[in-house]
Amino acid sequence: MRGLLVGRMQPFHLGHLQVIKNILDILEEVIIVIGSSQLSHTTNDPFTAGERVMMVTKALAENGIRASRYYIIPVQDIECNSLWVAHMEMLTPPFEHVYSGNPLVQRLFTEKGYDVTEPPLFNRKIYSGTEVRRRMLNDEEWESLIPESVVKVIGEIDGISRIKQLARKEVSEV
Ligand code: NAD
Repeated sequence: MRGLLVGRMQPFHLGHLQVIKNILDILEEVIIVIGSSQLSHTTNDPFTAGERVMMVTKALAENGIRASRYYIIPVQDIECNSLWVAHMEMLTPPFEHVYSGNPLVQRLFTEKGYDVTEPPLFNRKIYSGTEVRRRMLNDEEWESLIPESVVKVIGEIDGISRIKQLARKEVSEV
């Protein structure tokens, strides 16, 4: 049995990791979709799809999860919500279960007959992409919210300087 989890992973944090571990406690394989793969270089979506693939790959390796148990697939957004599930089906291996806390994602998959589960949230106040990015911008401690290997990826790509520069650009455009 194969499950699917979709998220923007901007960046990949400990909440995402815990959901993946829980899915793999139940199912043999998980498809991890990197959503909005066309977006990068904004304060809301600072990281490219390739960088996010690197974050997820390294975090799962760090946690001893074998590569044969997951697929990481970047998927671009499309204009038509009603065609989005078919768009996903075209790009991913077949799957039976969908895991998402996002109401739109839940609705679209349920309408197409998928079994949709809302995974429990782990410390959502801090394990959230919005909170990680806020802390990065404000020179607050963010490293404990994400896997160590993801901290290294963000260092390698000079992510903090990128997000801060983007924030200056967005302020200057207002
Ligand atoms: P996200 O990264 O915020 O979250 C992904 C999932 O991770 C959540 O649904 C939740 O189940 C889990 N999660 C997050 N924090 C957690 C925590 N602390 N504890 C436990 N679980 C946690 O991503 P998202 O916004 O839900 O991503 C949806 C993606 O689907 C977006 O990229 C969106 O653009 C895309 N989408 C596209 C279309 C379209 O193209 N028409 C339609 C619908 C959705």
